[in-house]
Amino acid sequence: MRILVTNDDGIDARGIKLLEEVARTFSDDVTVVAPAEEQSGKGRSLTITQPMRIRSYDDRHHAVGGTPTDAVIAALALFMKDSPPDLVLSGINRGSNLAEDVSYSGTVSAAMEGALAGIPAIALSQVYARPGMGDAVPFACAEAWARRALEPLIAGLADWVPNTLVNVNFPAIEPEQVKGIRVVRQGLRDYGDPQLQKSVDPRGYDYYWLNVGRVKHRSVATDLELSDQGYVTVTPLHLDLTHDPSLARLEQLYR
Ligand code: MN
Repeated sequence: MRILVTNDDGIDARGIKLLEEVARTFSDDVTVVAPAEEQSGKGRSLTITQPMRIRSYDDRHHAVGGTPTDAVIAALALFMKDSPPDLVLSGINRGSNLAEDVSYSGTVSAAMEGALAGIPAIALSQVYARPGMGDAVPFACAEAWARRALEPLIAGLADWVPNTLVNVNFPAIEPEQVKGIRVVRQGLRDYGDPQLQKSVDPRGYDYYWLNVGRVKHRSVATDLELSDQGYVTVTPLHLDLTHDPSLARLEQLYR
């Protein structure tokens, strides 16, 4: 099995080193192609208006001066061109990718790129409870549970539904407190009203920093709720955003 490991926190992030270690317990054939710098929140962004630099540390570690999507494209077009990966692993992200996070997430977007290329892809993220922890985010839960979360998915690779991906989140608790692994649907968090925090730079110019609003946390029996309850959550996703129930209603409008 050939595994491509990528992320959105950058190739030097702790989470991707952890994920590479986990990947190596499944296969000797692991290649890391990841953004050179942090790309959190870059979603499905592509670099198309400027050139991209790529630095190769060795045959199996390549840093891409672009987005997570760019990194997966570079892996498939350059480094794994002749023998594409059987699996794309993205993460382990520093912070949750639950509910609508998946629409902003670079971590999930990298997995989406794998899915679009017809390769089974899994995004992994470590939830953490307290804001303002920076690089001190504890990965103990992900470290202890990543292999257990991946094992059944990898055992089922032959039956993987084409063009789908799987989103895994490790809860913000100690590994021994985890209640188990649950397959659940994507939730809706509702961040409320996003804020632009105003401040002044050292040269006297105003600047603004995006901050999410107070979480209204509406959905039940979803990844959000189960993560809060102490489960590792596993959510299947796909890229067809069509809202099926609205098809008939819109057709009526155009009659
Ligand atoms: Mn990130």
